Amino acid sequence: MDKLHMKLMFEEARLLYPGTKRGLEVEWEYFWNLKKFAHRRSEIVSLMVPAIKRQIVRHQDTTDFVPSWKNFKSWVYNEYWTLEWGSKDKNAPVACKNCGEPSTGMYGNTPHCRKLECKAAAGDGCAKYLIEQGQK
Ligand SMILES: [Zn+2]
Repeated sequence: MDKLHMKLMFEEARLLYPGTKRGLEVEWEYFWNLKKFAHRRSEIVSLMVPAIKRQIVRHQDTTDFVPSWKNFKSWVYNEYWTLEWGSKDKNAPVACKNCGEPSTGMYGNTPHCRKLECKAAAGDGCAKYLIEQGQK
């Protein structure tokens, strides 16, 4: 997928996104320059719109706890397109595998919550790195 095509798909996601967002150029530059996504940008932009649609339905559909809409920048940075709260069983929010609290995302197939140590336990290399840095 070329850069223009990716940008168009990204824009579709940005327009659809119900939370706070900045202009296309600002959000796109931010996304494009995130090194952690450099090798999988085309995969990510194709996941965004379906994920936002699922999350919109989830928000409208339920009185259960669902995370509120972050600003788009945080949604992107934290890879919220991987978030699948309650998608298998609507009444059972996925629990963090490490501590059992409601999960805020998946790393691979492992649900984790917001806590850094839980992300690290799920195999998130970035979280491990941040913990190591914090211990120095
Ligand atoms: Zn946890």
